[in-house]
Amino acid sequence: MKAMVLKRVSNLRDTKEPLEMVDLPDPLPGEGEILIRVSACGVCHTELDEIEGRTPPPRFPVVPGHEVVGRVAGAGEGARRFRSGDRVGVGWIYSACGRCSYCLAGDENVCNEFRATGRDANGGYAEYMIAPEAFAYPIPDLFTDAQAAPLMCAGAIGYRSLRLAKIEDGQNLGLTGFGASAHLVLKMARRVYPNSPVFVFARSEREQAFARELGACWAGGTEDQAPERLHSIIDTTPAWKPVVEALKNLECGGRLVINAIRKENADRDYLLNLDYPAHLWLEKEIKSVANVARRDISEFLQLAAEIPIRPHVQEFPLEGANRALLELREGKIKGGKVLSIA
Ligand SMILES: [Zn+2]
Ligand SMILES: [Zn+2]
Repeated sequence: MKAMVLKRVSNLRDTKEPLEMVDLPDPLPGEGEILIRVSACGVCHTELDEIEGRTPPPRFPVVPGHEVVGRVAGAGEGARRFRSGDRVGVGWIYSACGRCSYCLAGDENVCNEFRATGRDANGGYAEYMIAPEAFAYPIPDLFTDAQAAPLMCAGAIGYRSLRLAKIEDGQNLGLTGFGASAHLVLKMARRVYPNSPVFVFARSEREQAFARELGACWAGGTEDQAPERLHSIIDTTPAWKPVVEALKNLECGGRLVINAIRKENADRDYLLNLDYPAHLWLEKEIKSVANVARRDISEFLQLAAEIPIRPHVQEFPLEGANRALLELREGKIKGGKVLSIA
């Protein structure tokens, strides 16, 4: 099969073609695994982190790609969940131990034996991949293969952050930062908690206006005081200032959920503004989001079909993966970038 592989960590400033097209033997599904003929694979910022060594693969070469959609083309021993031809998706979580307290509680995303698709196991930048059948998901009919691919990642993480916000319908929800991920969270919140007013903190007036258009009851600047106290706030920014400023808007016992893989250090000094009585006193809490469990992906796919959320996508052939990655790095975003694999 044809595959785009990563052979070493490199710097994208000097290396314009970090992935290499190679011919690999078709993979064989083992016990409990399915063989998937890949038709679409989303291109994600996490691939840039893998290539540049911020989340390095343990072995090379590796086939990246964790927003995979394809059709079941074979099954290993004991794998009976899907039939040949069924359309399935695979996300960042490739497998987990299944026995530890986290796995048993449905939080397999924090399992010590968590393995990531396209980093710890070969992913979807290829004509075929294998995956444990327990970590594959049926894709709702509404979406094309290319549309479904980006849903496997950012949207599902947004859904987990909304779940971790632990609000009840009618309670006040806040969002700080209003980029692509927050747009999705706002749409989901409107659907899951129809009686919860949503308050949005965003830097630009354009973002604030867009938030109101999408149904926010109030939108203001990052430092503004919302007109009411909020039960939970979801932060989708790479900075620290929104964290400090969000805390002052929380209700007693309120929760700030940080949905960011890492925070940049440019404004770390802003943390010195943290004032215990104003920002943390009265049992306020802070929680981070560590990618997704299976439940997040499967529930989000259903929700995305109901709302519906249909991502705009820009398609590339498999051999165009390097171009897609470079455009992503340069911030040329015209919708989710997806490799369409014939
Ligand atoms: Zn991703
Ligand atoms: Zn486990």
